[in-house]
Amino acid sequence: MTAFPSESSIHRRGLLLVLSSPSGAGKSTLSRRLLAEEPNLSMSVSMTTRPPRSGEVDGVHYHFVDHDQFDQMIAADGFMEYATVFGNQYGTPKAAVATQLADGRDVLFDIDWQGTQQIGEIACDDLVSVFILPPSAGELERRLRTRAQDSAAVIAQRMAKANDEVSHWAEYDYVIVNADLDLSVTRIRAILAAERLKRRRQIGLAEFVKTLQHVC
Ligand code: 5GP
Repeated sequence: MTAFPSESSIHRRGLLLVLSSPSGAGKSTLSRRLLAEEPNLSMSVSMTTRPPRSGEVDGVHYHFVDHDQFDQMIAADGFMEYATVFGNQYGTPKAAVATQLADGRDVLFDIDWQGTQQIGEIACDDLVSVFILPPSAGELERRLRTRAQDSAAVIAQRMAKANDEVSHWAEYDYVIVNADLDLSVTRIRAILAAERLKRRRQIGLAEFVKTLQHVC
């Protein structure tokens, strides 16, 4: 009996799913949930000059480096994008993203609007950008205060910076108001499911359709 190629053999180009938000909108929790529930999704681990917070693990949450190491990475053209946020440098190492995409995996980025713009310039077709908004200004402030991982001065700086970050919401493909975590996860997974089915991402589709036409 002839073995017909099946729908599952269609190759797909990996996509770059970016989540941005002001600090305190729940983006880290959303990212964790998405990674747990989406087996084909990998996190891009950024490099930063910010000191680790308690509980943060080098190589898992960030690659923690000093300014010299960060500058060496810039000089070696090792970043896909990089930016200064709250006075610290953050960047996305190119090589790890390329490896994940080559393995046919989608990559999740927790980066700010500056990084999203830079990725849009180099990989516009593969970028899916989602902006996460807090349900209200009061809730945003409460979340920032109860996070208690940063000093009062840093919290005040982050609240001021939140306005700036929010002003970029309209540059994103999708916007989610994160009032209910489960609902937000469901919505982002729906976005991912639809974006994976975009015709231009299913690069093996033409070959698959040819096999159907043989039969007809
Ligand atoms: P945090 O210090 O709270 O972990 O992150 C501060 C901000 O930096 C967040 O808005 C986060 O999305 C952003 N960020 C983290 N990694 C990167 C990165 O590699 N590139 C850019 N552009 N922003 C990043």
